[in-house]
Amino acid sequence: MATMRTPIESGVPDNKQFLHPLMLRNYGNWKYHDRPRPGVLHHVAHSGDEIWTVRAGTQRQMDVYTVRKLCDIADQFADGHVRFTIRSNIEYMVSDPARVEPLIGALTGAGFPVGGTGNSVSSIAHTQGWLHCDIPGTDASGAVKALMDDLHAEFIKEEMPNRVHLSTSCCEINCGGQADIAIVVQHTKPPKINHDLVANVCERPSVVARCPVAAIRPAMVNGKPSLEIDESKCMCCGACYPPCPPMQINDPESSKLAIWVGGKNSNARGKPTFMKMVASGLPNNPPRWPEVSAMVKKILYTYKEDARSWERVSDWIERIGWPQFFEKCDLPFTKYLIDDWRGSRASLNASTHIRF
Ligand code: SF4
Ligand code: SF4
Repeated sequence: MATMRTPIESGVPDNKQFLHPLMLRNYGNWKYHDRPRPGVLHHVAHSGDEIWTVRAGTQRQMDVYTVRKLCDIADQFADGHVRFTIRSNIEYMVSDPARVEPLIGALTGAGFPVGGTGNSVSSIAHTQGWLHCDIPGTDASGAVKALMDDLHAEFIKEEMPNRVHLSTSCCEINCGGQADIAIVVQHTKPPKINHDLVANVCERPSVVARCPVAAIRPAMVNGKPSLEIDESKCMCCGACYPPCPPMQINDPESSKLAIWVGGKNSNARGKPTFMKMVASGLPNNPPRWPEVSAMVKKILYTYKEDARSWERVSDWIERIGWPQFFEKCDLPFTKYLIDDWRGSRASLNASTHIRF
């Protein structure tokens, strides 16, 4: 007799146990879907079943009271089922069209904007920041909140040429993803080493091994084992800071923000693309980051004005060319921007289609 496989204690749980019963019944058997209004998806199954999904923006990092409020709305106005999208939007599913409007009313009444579907500016995907990571050079969620306050109108409408995905990353090396427009922290000076702490806190060989340009060497300083940096090699990536916090790279003056554009993961209408840096050295200026917001809005609204229907930011730039992009967005061009590495033709060959 076949024996059941023992459950694995790690990894993603089977999502079927959490699905709305109507979705479970029609799993893999959908005929078509449309969008009756911004923020609402309507799916029709081959069986004739229909389901409406209402999408609302959240602040991603939520306190328990906010989570309870969202769950109460699910219990009262939906069928008690919710799911989160990768951009931290929350979605409620209902099987009766008459329940869509009251649900929208409850969400907007509680301060959660309904939108983020189709050709809108969806919520900004942002990395975890101070709350949950040991490397951040900035507060990603703060910059997101400030920017989405300004872009609220573009979240609740679908008036962009195509969907616009924004992201923020609070270090230069890890979990921020590709986006049409991205805000990425940018360290501009090598780390300052606190030599009194290195011997007690850091495993020196692993710090030396971590540097991608071999700029770190073991050294004796004041009679104690420590490290030294060849500053002419250091590219200020911040990779040495996580394994060795005494190599402090965050700095209120020299840690800046940069804007990258033209990335996308999707294969629709064109292959996936990597984003490229188009503005650097913007001040990391909490609590509202006005310089960053102004630059993102300048690029976003130039794209909105100039792009053809269905062009993503990368398609638009591909059509008009980089010189036109910098001219139209009033951005100064320097030799440090875009990607001038001669091997980039291969590295940017990012299609998931197989070629020989
Ligand atoms: S982007 Fe970097 S610092 Fe921010 S959460 Fe991810 S790994 Fe941590
Ligand atoms: S910041 Fe990056 S390049 Fe500079 S020493 Fe640290 S790991 Fe090396």
